[in-house]
Amino acid sequence: MTVLVVGGGITGLTAAYTLAQSGIPTHLVEVSGRLGGKIGTENIDGFLVESGPDSFISYRPAALELARELGLADSIIRPTNPRTVLIRSHGRFVAMPEGMGLVLPTRLRPFVETDMFSPLEKLRIGMDLLLPRDGRDDDVAVGAFLRRRLGRALVDRLAGPLLGGVYGTLIDELSLKAVVPQLRDAERRHRSLLLASLASGREAAARGSGSPFVTLSGGMGQFIVGLTAALERRSSVEIRLNSKVEALERRGGGDFEVALAGGQRVRAEAVVLAAPGPATANLLEGVAPAASAHVRSIRHGSTAVVSLGYRADQFAKPPIGHGFLVAAGEPLAIDGCTISSQKWASRAPEGTVLLRVFVGSHSPGALAGSDAEIVALVEQDLGLLTGVRSAPIMTRVSRSIGLMPEYTVGHLDRVAGANEALDQLPNLAIAGAPFRGVGVPDCIAQGRAAAGRVAEALTGVVAR
Ligand SMILES: Cc1cc2nc3c(=O)[nH]c(=O)nc-3n(C[C@H](O)[C@H](O)[C@H](O)COP(=O)(O)OP(=O)(O)OC[C@H]3O[C@@H](n4cnc5c(N)ncnc54)[C@H](O)[C@@H]3O)c2cc1C
Repeated sequence: MTVLVVGGGITGLTAAYTLAQSGIPTHLVEVSGRLGGKIGTENIDGFLVESGPDSFISYRPAALELARELGLADSIIRPTNPRTVLIRSHGRFVAMPEGMGLVLPTRLRPFVETDMFSPLEKLRIGMDLLLPRDGRDDDVAVGAFLRRRLGRALVDRLAGPLLGGVYGTLIDELSLKAVVPQLRDAERRHRSLLLASLASGREAAARGSGSPFVTLSGGMGQFIVGLTAALERRSSVEIRLNSKVEALERRGGGDFEVALAGGQRVRAEAVVLAAPGPATANLLEGVAPAASAHVRSIRHGSTAVVSLGYRADQFAKPPIGHGFLVAAGEPLAIDGCTISSQKWASRAPEGTVLLRVFVGSHSPGALAGSDAEIVALVEQDLGLLTGVRSAPIMTRVSRSIGLMPEYTVGHLDRVAGANEALDQLPNLAIAGAPFRGVGVPDCIAQGRAAAGRVAEALTGVVAR
């Protein structure tokens, strides 16, 4: 009895780890020469550079639980205070009001006092307190939903940059049901989104909870090191790097025959597909064409993260806070910037600054350029925004081209369609960022669930 896991990102590694915990022989196959997928932490000249995620939310428990299980509890760190984030809009920086939730204020006073919105715009936002529910239950774009309740200014200047930064999709295409279903629930239960958000802010204050984001002191790569070590301790697990899974076929009895690049074929009683959407769609073609079509209809986009290290004295004035986001329509190539050395402890050598700049939404064409061209574009914007004119002492460009799932309107129907089409194949599971959450905790939860599904199909034992 062997399970084949395709993809050595956090989803595939978690699936293999969960199967190993049940003692089920597992083969993990990864096309590249390293494990981690989009997660990658490197130490470059003392700068801790994250090529993918740099943190995760703590209110979805899967990642925190896994960190503790892997013995990483002492490595969990929170961002520094104060947690100032700026928004670049209409050619100037404005501080995001303190106490912002995902897109709405959880505290009234900073929001009333902010100069991000004019008095008229604040009045329009306040109309949410009076507007009736719309009673719809279909999926709509987050932008349209929020604009109806709170007006254009809040969407353009706050919700758009905040959600666009996380999901890499324009807010007018982003699925309300897949991304922020809690907003529709809030409207249903409280009618006013503002009242609901302020109530959740009071509850959070009573619990004494701070930032919902946490990370690991040695970077997100600690998850990968921890999982790899746990897998290597098990004789029931085999990991193959530099090996591409090219096709799946079904054999008599429902087993799979798996074709690897180079002509090798292996048999498996069950398969977990934890690759990016386009690769998963290709692999499903031979065994579940209807599921393949649903997965293929999930759009994927591109992004790049440019990490830049500077000496602090290269800045005339030290950069402020944790970073900034750029509102739509600004004449800039970059989407936003995290000042990693200020947001987290131990990210950069003493007397230096580490920036992490996002490129892709505002200037998709830039992603086709060379690393040097992308860095030059970023330096030009940083010069304008921060006054830094001299060249960085460290740069690293990481691209994810066509690998970023976009949760557009109707996303959950596409995922449900794919899963329904797999109903008759309980020994085949799909999991990972393209489906039920792009965040690391959601990917971990999906890896666990996929392992549970195939383990149950093989052993008849329902996972805990
Ligand atoms: C720049 C960036 C910033 C992000 N920031 C955050 C953040 O701050 N917080 C957060 O929670 N999330 C963040 N995310 C999202 C999160 O990192 C990803 O959604 C998550 O890591 C995806 O994990 P995965 O295992 O599902 O997929 P992947 O990491 O994409 O892994 C899939 C693996 O499958 C392999 N593969 C593909 N095809 C084959 C094949 N045919 N055969 C064998 N192997 C194959 C690939 O090489 C890859 O290793 C970010 C993502 C990016 C790119």
